[in-house]
Amino acid sequence: MTEDRRPVRGEVFERTLALLVELCALSSPSGDADGLRRVAARLGTELSRRGLACDVREERDADGVLQPVLVASGPAAGDRRLVLVGHLDTVLPAVPPKVAGDRLEATGALDMKGGLATLVGALDLLAAAGGRMPDGLTLVAVPDEESSGSISERAVRHWSARARAVLVLEPGEPRGDAESLVAGRRGLTEWRLEVVGRPAHSGLAYWEGRSALAAAADWCAAAQRLSVPGAGRTVNVGRLVAGTTDFVDALADNHALLGTSRQRNIVPERAVAEGEVRFLSAAEGAAVLAELTDAADRIAADHEVVATLITGVSAPPVDPRGPGEELVRRAVALAAARGFRLEVEDNRGGISFPNYMTDTASVPVVDGLGPVGGGMHTRDEWLDLRSLEKRMVLLADLLATL
Ligand SMILES: [Zn+2]
Repeated sequence: MTEDRRPVRGEVFERTLALLVELCALSSPSGDADGLRRVAARLGTELSRRGLACDVREERDADGVLQPVLVASGPAAGDRRLVLVGHLDTVLPAVPPKVAGDRLEATGALDMKGGLATLVGALDLLAAAGGRMPDGLTLVAVPDEESSGSISERAVRHWSARARAVLVLEPGEPRGDAESLVAGRRGLTEWRLEVVGRPAHSGLAYWEGRSALAAAADWCAAAQRLSVPGAGRTVNVGRLVAGTTDFVDALADNHALLGTSRQRNIVPERAVAEGEVRFLSAAEGAAVLAELTDAADRIAADHEVVATLITGVSAPPVDPRGPGEELVRRAVALAAARGFRLEVEDNRGGISFPNYMTDTASVPVVDGLGPVGGGMHTRDEWLDLRSLEKRMVLLADLLATL
């Protein structure tokens, strides 16, 4: 279907690269609202020229400061949009970009102005091949992915809720002569274990005490053992505090006890452990939390203490075997047809755009569609221009099927 498409490293590539160089020269570290507005405006101008309606909305970040969000949307027949997600901000302020051979050395070239430029280039390739822009194509570019992420989270939640698919333009990874695409991302749930035992003098009445510390330590060791190497679930105990109720509840006032002889003769009646679990599917997340609750019940009975497990903040996983699987396979096949080998990351670490979605169980997500490079978040950041070329073609091919 695409044999007649022009060679890429022609006019479209050069124009895309020139735009990317411009975007990278505009300094837009997180928090620099004026710089971010300049990037949003420049990108918006290019997308308007390609038939998208561009709107730069001002939203309040975590500190109450107004920051720009670019929403560029194509005509939509139905109400389910094809949503592309990216961010305008960089970690560092910009230094002048430099093209050196097959590399663009520039702030944000990799993370992720390269991904934003890829979309512009892909739209041009699509148009040059006589293709139509997918119905309801919508780019949402946010200003705070590298900082608090509160606007990012809101925007992704809002726009993904009625999306027919979500494409994330964050970079893939170089893999020898191949590159990667992200199909899976672990979700997380935070938890807190509270244990109450019975205090006793350890010299006079040791056997009358019920150590919350010993119970919590048992539970923590059992919890950690639920972790499975590789792509499996993990449980991390981030902290465990135990001692007398005063010590635990007013830790800041009582930390000077550490290293002294005081209160060593009390069987500790109170313990608090906090941590998180990470998992690749909602079912796996539910299963591991059920096992942690069972372990708390078992240990409470064994130690004759009260143990309560409370869950907190949660971010959904992107299951590599979920609704995005078919789309990922399609992208890999489209790349292969162009002689470009894509490997699939089933288990990318960290929390990112897809974890902000309300519903990763029914909306397909493909992440890591942006070009690869190196030196992310450093002064040595660079983008592989051969990858930019390949990713433009891939995205154009993929959009043609959506
Ligand atoms: Zn990024």
